[in-house]
Amino acid sequence: MTSGQNGDTFVEFERVQKSYDGEVLVVKDLNLSIGKGEFLTMLGPSGSGKTTCLMMLAGFETATHGDIRLGGREINNIPPHKRGIGMVFQNYALFPHMSVNENLAFPLQVRGLSKSETESKVKRALDMVQMGEFGNRRPAQLSGGQQQRIAVARALVFDPELVLMDEPLGALDKQLREQMQYEIKHIHENLGVTVVYVTHDQSEALTMSDRIAVFNDGVIQQLADPETLYERPENSFCAQFIGENNKLGGKIVGIDGDTATVEFDDGATCKALAVNCGGVGERSLLSIRPERVAIGNSDTPDAISARVLELIYLGDHIRCRMDVHGHNEFIVKVPNAAGHARLNVGETVHLTWEREDCRALDLI
Ligand code: ADP
Repeated sequence: MTSGQNGDTFVEFERVQKSYDGEVLVVKDLNLSIGKGEFLTMLGPSGSGKTTCLMMLAGFETATHGDIRLGGREINNIPPHKRGIGMVFQNYALFPHMSVNENLAFPLQVRGLSKSETESKVKRALDMVQMGEFGNRRPAQLSGGQQQRIAVARALVFDPELVLMDEPLGALDKQLREQMQYEIKHIHENLGVTVVYVTHDQSEALTMSDRIAVFNDGVIQQLADPETLYERPENSFCAQFIGENNKLGGKIVGIDGDTATVEFDDGATCKALAVNCGGVGERSLLSIRPERVAIGNSDTPDAISARVLELIYLGDHIRCRMDVHGHNEFIVKVPNAAGHARLNVGETVHLTWEREDCRALDLI
């Protein structure tokens, strides 16, 4: 699975499996190549195997089967401290009894750098995370966000070629988390270091990543850049997990080239792009983003009738819940802008969308 990767391969998982108990595979036959300098995010729900993959790459867990390579070298038998990987975790893991300067100097002293080299690298790393003034403080004298900045600086201070981050912003409030997302993204762009990042937060993944590997149940469901993942999900799991999505279940009654005709349970039909669905007679899920639905009129070809169930005023748009041929959780975002008619609960409207925005998917 190398689609979309730029540059030379730096990290490689080849047919990697992991079982903790000798029975259940929590990572199943994983193939993944990560390019040098890439920001790759492992995204998925809790328990989907992301951290296990990161821990195998770091060397804290061993693969039950398969190979992991770093810079073309097999690392299965190299201990963690010899892999030269920087790491950042959610709970900071700074040494509490040491000052910020001492925390940052530690990985350099371990590597035998001189005092002057250590001082200049510590200063550079602190400046990079805008914490140059805080070198003499202890971690307990810093806020959560500041501690996490120091943790990022410590992971980068020894110029590793690879940095692993496991939910590093999970403990921060929303505003700080978003600010740190941009900061980490810019640090990555400036340094060109390879980053493998784990999160269950899809907007964080979209904001920061070159590519995202979507995990579910130990399997990569799709590996793509953020835009492709949002615009062209390959299966219903990815369509549901990333962004908001309407799903309409029905039976395929015709396939013509890449167009599927799907019949809802009340007999109405709808055309969709056949992406990853079965043949005629099989059931499929149509996936449509709320912002891709327009309110048309009854003479628009292929318009789908819908009844307005609920309207929620959200300032820049009205969130409208509709009943579409028996599916009563269908959401449309109607812009609160000139030219858009006001809707009323109970009225029947006609919905339109581009065929490409309505994707017929499997039923995962
Ligand atoms: P994620 O990072 O996606 O939340 P994990 O890799 O932490 O997922 O976990 C994947 C599965 O492996 C889960 O079912 C979890 O309970 C199990 N697991 C993780 N670590 C261990 C461990 N040290 N011992 C046994 N089971 C584990």
